[in-house]
Amino acid sequence: MRRAGPAMPAVTVLGLEGSANKVGTGLVRDGQVLSNPRRTFVPAPGQGFLPGQTARHHQGCVLALLQEALQEAGLESADVDCVAYTKGPGMGAPLVTVAVVARTLAQLWNKPLLGVNHCVGHIEMGRLITGAQNPTVLYVSGGNTQVIAYSERRYRIFGETIDIAVGNCLDRFARVLKEVAHKMLASGECTPEDLCFSLQETLFAMLVEITERAMAHCGSQEALVVGGVGCNMRLQEMMQIMCAERGAKLFATDERFCIDNGAMIAQAGWEMFRTGQVTQLKDSWITQRYRTDEVEVTWRD
Ligand code: MG
Repeated sequence: MRRAGPAMPAVTVLGLEGSANKVGTGLVRDGQVLSNPRRTFVPAPGQGFLPGQTARHHQGCVLALLQEALQEAGLESADVDCVAYTKGPGMGAPLVTVAVVARTLAQLWNKPLLGVNHCVGHIEMGRLITGAQNPTVLYVSGGNTQVIAYSERRYRIFGETIDIAVGNCLDRFARVLKEVAHKMLASGECTPEDLCFSLQETLFAMLVEITERAMAHCGSQEALVVGGVGCNMRLQEMMQIMCAERGAKLFATDERFCIDNGAMIAQAGWEMFRTGQVTQLKDSWITQRYRTDEVEVTWRD
């Protein structure tokens, strides 16, 4: 999908993502996704992913992924105009792994570096792929849960979970259920599936309600679901019902783009670059906490 770009030569951005258990390398040129390969670290069944092992996984495949991205796009390193990487939020060790690769490439290739907010990456990818102009955003994933709307050069947060993200909550609940033989389960009053379904329905209903409140507050007629949990068809169905009832339009993407990927970092980097933002080498650190509303959105009016 191509968005009409400003009158300047085509800009090709390499995006590197690795803030959680996915590592991805994506190439984007003026709104066109040229390639977007990724790998997922999958721990043993019943276990969550820990920072150290996840970082080692990313170290093991990031260079092969880079080759793959260039080959699939039919490009060479000289064709890349800048290197974007996830600055945060996310898990420390995996973030560092990817930032080191980005810094090295930027210096080897003598290209500008762009430190991208992961959440802003999700939003910009969602806007690019769906064509939503000014949506109220429900960002829901393993690590983040936020309801966001744009105003005066910031993506403002209308609601968020501070203790645990919805994706992590669903996963952790399933793991806990395996360990605890709850009395409702022991008595046969309900099954593990019943409990998982109830939790999901309750969480999603809360998300839909807060999103609707934000839409009402902003007078918004567009809703966009991003983040890994945004692939969930039940969540999309509930959001669709809410949107239909208020005459609004729902935008969602499939797993290629709503799950963490390199192209989303490239796309947000492209927006930053075209409006003059560049990250100096001395500022190219990572941060586990990096709020969506800290970013100055220089590319929107
Ligand atoms: Mg994410």
